[in-house]
Amino acid sequence: MKKVLKNCLVVDENLNFEKKDLYVEDGRFVDFAEENAEDVEDLKGALVLPGLVNTHTHAPMSLFRGIAEDVELYEWLSTYIFPREDKLTEEDVYIGSLVSFMEMIKNGITTFVDMYFFQDAVAQAAKDVGIRGVITRGLADISGNGGQKLKECEDFIKAHANDPLIRGGVGPHALYTCSNDYFKEAVQLAHSTDSLLTFHLLESPLEREDYVKRTGMESVDFLDSIGAFDERTIIAHGTHFNEKELDLIAQRGATLSYNPISNAKLGNGIAPIHLALSKKVNVTLGTDSAASNNSLNLFDEIKFGVLVQRAISKDPTVMKMEEVFSMATKNASKPLPFEVGKIESGMLADLVVVNTESLSLSPNEYMKSHLIYSFDTSAIKKVMVNGEWVYDEGFLNVDFHEVMERFEKAVSSLNSRL
Ligand SMILES: [Zn+2]
Repeated sequence: MKKVLKNCLVVDENLNFEKKDLYVEDGRFVDFAEENAEDVEDLKGALVLPGLVNTHTHAPMSLFRGIAEDVELYEWLSTYIFPREDKLTEEDVYIGSLVSFMEMIKNGITTFVDMYFFQDAVAQAAKDVGIRGVITRGLADISGNGGQKLKECEDFIKAHANDPLIRGGVGPHALYTCSNDYFKEAVQLAHSTDSLLTFHLLESPLEREDYVKRTGMESVDFLDSIGAFDERTIIAHGTHFNEKELDLIAQRGATLSYNPISNAKLGNGIAPIHLALSKKVNVTLGTDSAASNNSLNLFDEIKFGVLVQRAISKDPTVMKMEEVFSMATKNASKPLPFEVGKIESGMLADLVVVNTESLSLSPNEYMKSHLIYSFDTSAIKKVMVNGEWVYDEGFLNVDFHEVMERFEKAVSSLNSRL
């Protein structure tokens, strides 16, 4: 199906604005479509951004948003999260994911990278909303069943090998939940299936010390020895990377998913992104889950992410506007199996239409700055994924009120089963 979007104010990767018409055919931007396109729409000068990419999340955890605040991480996990995760049904995971994907779409996120379980339910929710993503079956062997999880992961990758919206990836959770041998098997599965590999690393302050105590090795050295860092790898957090490790990550071409709000909220620290950028590490942005953020909004990560780097580096010139916008968009296309994050011929047609008559975007003259420092996602009017509108001042593929009712019921039922 051919579409023409007339009179767009398109933002490119360098935050330059250009007035032009966009042509979409078979889910991609094309240079020119014949004038007899079936669908011609006048966007009347609206701002058009590439869809944003959330490179680290756990979608079903919207079920746990606000569950417990101001407690230590261990207490948060053991008292609140783990007992509920033990009782989750496939329906819970579906409805939790649905709500997260709706929130992402509404906030201009069109692609995600997820790690959880009941991956078929997560995929169904993504398809029902119409969002694109890489879904990894979270892998851990400390509580048993490691082999079964790897098999599920491989089956999911194979089942979605040619899916236009959903691909499988490999997600060994972390070195404190996976044995070294198991982690190695996971990396081998990513390599043999040419899939995206993603894992948590050096998120909290004690992780480095604990791993060295347990194994006599540095975690980064072990991971490098098994080939865990390459161009298809997304490292989530990396809050406590040192300079030497950042050099290695840059050399291997791996991507670092910066999750500033989750890291700050859980008291884990802040990743040294100002250093990572000076070493040319490919950096992207992630929200982490709604349980530790508590929003799924990359414009919040953009603003907070810049401010906190400036606060810790005492340098108001680090993380330039173009750099941080690229982190939320085109940098993700390097590790992902999708050509996303840029509005240009040949790229997948994922875009966000923004009403420039908005308080947070005024004065329009300085819009570049507003996208980074004052953007309010209520200015988002329409969202397209894979050449199809999925949001037009409301969700086009799901019934909002019905979903919210089901979601509230799922949370009450889960609490009653504890
Ligand atoms: Zn995470």
